[in-house]
This record gives sequence, C-alpha cells and structure tokens, in this order.
Amino acid sequence: MAMGFSLEIDPWVYRAKFHEDGGWTEEYVEKPHLTPSEEAAMPPSEKAELLLRRNNFADLPLVNYTSQYGMGCFEGLKAFPQLDGSLKLFRPDENGKRMEASMKGLLMPGFPPDTFLTAVRTLVGRNKCIGFAPSYDPGWAAADFVQGSAVYVRPFTCAEPGIGVGISRSPWVIMITTPVGSYFKPGNTKAVTTRRVRATPGGTGWIKADSNYVTSALAKKEAELAGFMEAVFLDAREHAYFEEGSSCNIFFVMKDGTLVTPRLEDTILPGITRKSILILAHEKGISTEERPVSVKDAFSNAKECFVSGTAAGITPIESITHDGKEAVFAGRKTGDVTRALLKTLKGIQYGALPDAYGWMFPAILAAPRP
Ligand SMILES: *Cc1c(COP(=O)(O)O)cnc(C)c1O
Repeated sequence: MAMGFSLEIDPWVYRAKFHEDGGWTEEYVEKPHLTPSEEAAMPPSEKAELLLRRNNFADLPLVNYTSQYGMGCFEGLKAFPQLDGSLKLFRPDENGKRMEASMKGLLMPGFPPDTFLTAVRTLVGRNKCIGFAPSYDPGWAAADFVQGSAVYVRPFTCAEPGIGVGISRSPWVIMITTPVGSYFKPGNTKAVTTRRVRATPGGTGWIKADSNYVTSALAKKEAELAGFMEAVFLDAREHAYFEEGSSCNIFFVMKDGTLVTPRLEDTILPGITRKSILILAHEKGISTEERPVSVKDAFSNAKECFVSGTAAGITPIESITHDGKEAVFAGRKTGDVTRALLKTLKGIQYGALPDAYGWMFPAILAAPRP
C-alpha cells in the first residue's frame, strides 16, 4: 500500500458501550492536541508521542475477545471536503446498517444505525471545528479528484475482558477519524490471483470482520513481494471464479459493454461503493450483471477491470495474472467505462456533480463553546 493510511488520529474520538442491563451509553472524548499547523511543526519524536497519546484508551481492557480471538468488526467510510467549505460523508447510513448487520453476524448486540449516523456526522464535525479536516482544492477537479484528500472514518468494536473463547455481549463501539490521500500507488496496478482462501460458504466473508483481514493481509503482502499491487481471491470450492480483491470488490467490463461483478453470496462483502457503481452504471445506460465470473470468461471476454471500495475508490486494474498467464485490460490504461464511473462517483463525492440520490450527509458542526 502506498501512502494510504498514515495513522494520525484526529483529536476528537467517539465511544459507545453496551450495558447488558441498560443499553448503549455514548461519549465524545477530546484527546490531547495543538492546532494542526503547530502539530505539523513539531519535532518528529514529539509528534509521534502526541499521536500515541491520541491512540490510547487507558481504560480499555488489553485481554479481551477481540485482542485474543479477532472477535470484532469494523466499518470504513469517508467525509469529503466540498467546494462550499463544508464536509460531507458518503452514504454513512449504509455503513450504519452494515455495522449493525456485522455485529449481529458476530452475535453481538447490534449498534443502532441512527445512533451510528449521528455519531459519525458529529465526530467529523467536531474535528473540523478544531481545524482537523482537509480543505477543498480546486485543482483536484482537473484529474477527476483522483488525488483528492478526505477524512477517513473508522468505526470498530472492542470486546469486553475475556480469555475463554467466547462471544462479545457488551462491546464498545469506537470511532476515530484520520486524514487520507489516495490509496494505491500510481503506476503499477497489476493484480495476481492467490491460492489463499479469504472466505468459505457458511463463513464470515459477508461480515466486515477483523478476522477476515488476516488472509487478506497475507495475500496482499505476497502479491506485493511478487511485484503486483493487489491480490485477487477466487472461490473456495473450485478456484475458478473471481470473488474479491484483498479489501475491495471487483468489476469487469466485457467486450459487449456489460458491466459484470460477482453476485453477493455469503463469501462476498456487500460493498457500498459496489452498490453505488451498479446504480450509476444503470443511470448511464450500461447493462449490468451480478453473476459468477469465471477466470476463463474474464480472460477471454473482459476489456476493462477495476476494484472498488471506500479506500480504493474505483481503481483500474491493468492486468490480472493467473497460473502464469497475464490478461491485460484496456491497454494498461484506464478504460472508458471505468473512467466514466470514476468521474461520476468522485464528482458526486466532492460535490462537483449533483447528489441526485441523496447519498451525501453533511457533518454536524458542534455549537461554538461558550
Ligand atoms: C470494506 C470492504 C469492501 C468495500 O466496501 P465499501 O463499502 O465499498 O467500502 C470490499 N471488500 C471487503 C473484503 C471489504 O472489507
């Protein structure tokens, strides 16, 4: 991964905790900070120390079902700076619904989507009010916002203390924000299939579970060491059908112009970017199919390929290598369909295009303190 996530947690963080007798309690915590420009001028060691203090909850248990057994889940979403100076989140209501579904899938109490929505909007708003949010750069539009900055929001669960294998009945839901640039290095966008299996039928592939990322991280590292940007997972049973990238959904544009992506099964993560792309394609008159996509089919019939996700946005894939054979897409350039979808999605996110579907939610700015 290129620049992606440098971990500079913004000062305001959010925490909720489930009490088995009384439901959820919430708090916003303002961690130690200076102004953004003062922090930028700090000597690196002092800055690192300050950032570590922000990445620290002295009262969270070290030994718990999450740290011991990976029993946890998370979300990832972004807030985009707008031309008018505001900050808007992309489909945070969808992330709230998925977070609840993931938690229930792990037999935790579900975090209410309405509470989630207000919390993310308030959290990014509070950080913006103290200067911790990127501002809009009019230069981004010329390159379709591919180099645009944003605020990344990471909600996640943390389990209560426990050492025996068990489920979490009274988790915390924590939310932090951190600035992000673009996810992938420009240049190499080659992908390679992996023999590793991310998800099996009946498993947790559809849940945004911490544990799913062990295999993803291993496969991605192996791909990078072999000179690729991304690893692509195939199905567990036959090793013949595409499933996903390491942390993103995958799409192909076939020679007849149809946009194809694997159908949502319990081994595929229901990406919000994926869902949005299908809507945008439909609007553009592009026919879409959600169906199994075999390696054979894609290698002989696909002319474009891209991966999608909050972090990846829409990232064109120049080629996929499988069993030593490389399929090259769109002459290693960004294909026309990929480009059109990317332009529209980013345009909506950065407010350069109208938000016809009501996808963008403004940050809630905290009232000035007395
Ligand atoms: C989060 C995630 C995605 C992308 O989902 P978005 O909602 O589009 O960010 C795709 N695949 C996996 C495995 C994921 O964890």
